[in-house]
Amino acid sequence: MSGADALAAHFWQGCALGELRYQRCRACGAAQFHPRRFCARCGGAPDWAVAQGLGTVYAATRVTRAPTPDFARLAPYDILLVDLDEGFRMMAHGAPGLRIGERVRLDFDRRGERALPRFERLGGRS
Ligand SMILES: [Zn+2]
Repeated sequence: MSGADALAAHFWQGCALGELRYQRCRACGAAQFHPRRFCARCGGAPDWAVAQGLGTVYAATRVTRAPTPDFARLAPYDILLVDLDEGFRMMAHGAPGLRIGERVRLDFDRRGERALPRFERLGGRS
């Protein structure tokens, strides 16, 4: 397994446990979501951390033409860019109809052995 694969595997293991894992730099404190061996800002060594999963919608897109047959079964679906309270931005599936600026909470959509991160409206399904 390459270093990048091992980092990605650590992230997906977290999802399976219901944890949103991200990295925080030991040197400058920057949060980064796509795991790397080094901090993208200063080159320092990042530690793993677990996010609470609360954030604000930065962008939302309705996907009607799925990129793969797997996702075609889900289409149409909404993809969100969310600013997590811990200070990083991530892309994930979202509940239909979420809008920019809405508060969201991360949940995991279990499909087989993989748990896909998915954002729900904070405060339940109202
Ligand atoms: Zn850093």
